[in-house]
Amino acid sequence: MSGGDKMYLIIGNGAAGIAAATALRRLDKTTPITMLTRELGGFYSRIDLPDIIAGKLPRAAAEIKSPAALAQLGIDYRTGEEVAAVCPATRTVVCASGRRYRYSKLLIATGSQPVKPAWPGIDAEGVYTLWTLPQAAAITADAEASQAAVVIGAGLIGLKTALALRYRGLKVTVVEQQPHILPRQLDGGAATIVARALKDAGIEILTEATVKGLAVEDGKVCQVEINGKLLECSLVVIAVGVRPQAELAEAAGLKVGRGIQVDKYMQTSAPEIYAAGDVAEVYDRLTGQRVVPATWPMAVEQGEIAAYNMVGWRRPFTGSINLNSVEIAGIPIVSAGDVNGALTDDVYIWQTDHAYRKVVMHRGKVKGVLLLGDIRQAGVVINLMAKQTELAGRTWPLTANFSYADLLPRIIF
Ligand SMILES: Cc1cc2nc3c(=O)[nH]c(=O)nc-3n(C[C@H](O)[C@H](O)[C@H](O)COP(=O)(O)OP(=O)(O)OC[C@H]3O[C@@H](n4cnc5c(N)ncnc54)[C@H](O)[C@@H]3O)c2cc1C
Repeated sequence: MSGGDKMYLIIGNGAAGIAAATALRRLDKTTPITMLTRELGGFYSRIDLPDIIAGKLPRAAAEIKSPAALAQLGIDYRTGEEVAAVCPATRTVVCASGRRYRYSKLLIATGSQPVKPAWPGIDAEGVYTLWTLPQAAAITADAEASQAAVVIGAGLIGLKTALALRYRGLKVTVVEQQPHILPRQLDGGAATIVARALKDAGIEILTEATVKGLAVEDGKVCQVEINGKLLECSLVVIAVGVRPQAELAEAAGLKVGRGIQVDKYMQTSAPEIYAAGDVAEVYDRLTGQRVVPATWPMAVEQGEIAAYNMVGWRRPFTGSINLNSVEIAGIPIVSAGDVNGALTDDVYIWQTDHAYRKVVMHRGKVKGVLLLGDIRQAGVVINLMAKQTELAGRTWPLTANFSYADLLPRIIF
C-alpha cells in the first residue's frame, strides 16, 4: 500500500469508536476515516436508555452526534453496514452487504452484547435485553400495554431498567441469583441500603433466585419460574451480564481471551489492527490482571489512546481502574477497586442511616473504596488508589469526614 493509500477504518460507532474517530480527525486532518456500524442513525448514549423507557427523556435526546455532524468532521460514516469478516492478509473487511473496505489501520470497537441464557421460553414475545435504542423503543412500546414486568439480573442495567419500568407504573420484580443486589459494585451492607430504597420505590427484589424458565402463552411470555415460584408478567428484561463481541477478531486469527487482547498501545496481535472499548481485554492498573472493564469512561479513554497510536504517536494506556459512579433510586454510589477486601486487608467502615462509607487498605495503600449516600472525597480516595500512594502506618488515619489536608502528614512521597 503506497503512502497515498493511507486510510483509517473503524468498526463500531459506540463510545470507543467515536472517541477514536474524533481524536483521529483532530490528530490527522487529511487521511480518510471510514466508520462502519450495523446500527442505524447517529451516535447515542446507551446510559440514557432507561430514562427513555421511563419517559423522562425523548428518544432524540440520547443522540450525541448525528450522522450529519460526523460527516461534517470528515468522517465517512456508514450505517446499516454489518462487518462479516476481517482479512488481515489483504487489509480489508467484508460486509454482509458484500461491500469491501480497505484499511491501513483498523480499529475494532464492536463493544458488548447482552448475554441471553438458554432458558425455555427465552425467544418468546415480550422478552428483551437492553443494549440499543431500538430495544429501548420496543420495551417502551410493550410497557404501554403491560401491568407487570420481571427484570432478571440486579446489576446496574437491570436496576436502572427496573426503576424505569416502575416509574411508568408497572409492578416490577427483580430476580437476582446472588445473595445481594449489585454484586459487582457493592458489599452486603451497602446493598441492604440500596435494596431498601428500591423497595420504598415499590420494586420487589428476590435474591438467591434461580430462573428455571419462562412460561409462554400464544407466543407471549406470561410467567417466570424461579425456585419453584411463578411470577406473573407480560414483560421480561434479561440483564444478566454482557460479553465482548470478539467473534470477528477470533475468526481473523487475533488473540482473544474474554475480549480481544491488546497491549498497552491498544494494538492487537495482528499488525495494524487495534481494539478499544467493551470488546478489548486490557490490564487492570492495580492487580495487573487482564480484564474487560466494560464502562463508558474506559471505552472513551481507550478509543482516544488507540487513535494516538494509529496515527503513530506512542501513547500508552496506563491500565484500567475498576470504577463505577452511578445513582440508583436517588442514592449516589461510587465503587472502585476491590470493595470486599481479603482477610489480610484493613477495612474501615462508617455507617449512618443514609450513608455507607468504606475504605479497604492493603499495606498502607488504598485497594478499594465504596461510598454510598455521601460520596464526598471520592476523588481524593480514588486518586490515592489509582496512584497507589503509600500512607504511613497500617491504619486509615481519618474519620469519615476527612479532608485532603488531613491526609498530607501520612503520605509518603
Ligand atoms: C442501559 C445501559 C446503561 C449503562 N449505564 C452505564 C453507566 O452508568 N456507566 C458506564 O460506565 N457504562 C454504562 N453502560 C455501559 C456503556 O454504555 C458501555 O460500556 C459503552 O457503550 C461501551 O462502548 P463501546 O464503544 O465499547 O461499545 P458499544 O457501545 O457496544 O458500541 C459498539 C458498536 O459496534 C457495533 N457493531 C458490533 N459488531 C459490529 C459488526 N460486526 N459490524 C458493524 N457494527 C458492529 C454495534 O452495533 C455498536 O453500535 C450502560 C449500558 C447500557 C446498555
